[in-house]
Amino acid sequence: MPVPKRKTSKARRDKRHANSALFVSTITTCPNCSKPRVPHVACRECGFFKGRKVMDTKADRVLRRAKVAEIAQAKKPEAQVEAPVVEVASQELEADTKK
Ligand SMILES: [Zn+2]
Repeated sequence: MPVPKRKTSKARRDKRHANSALFVSTITTCPNCSKPRVPHVACRECGFFKGRKVMDTKADRVLRRAKVAEIAQAKKPEAQVEAPVVEVASQELEADTKK
């Protein structure tokens, strides 16, 4: 594997990057959602590239997390969680009536 002989110095690196601010990068519109996007890169808004969904967007991840949480909630046994609270409350009521 070819490897650079010398480390690129900070001065040399920064001189190269000095040009990057001079040019405004080209921006096109997404054919799927018509939002602005960088050409040859998947759309960040809808995750489409060349008419095909290639990556998850932030909204997709939020939806998936909500679904997973919903499934986890459904699997939890509700009777075991609520029963002790009711017993304690009834014992306290009995103790109050005896006084
Ligand atoms: Zn898009």
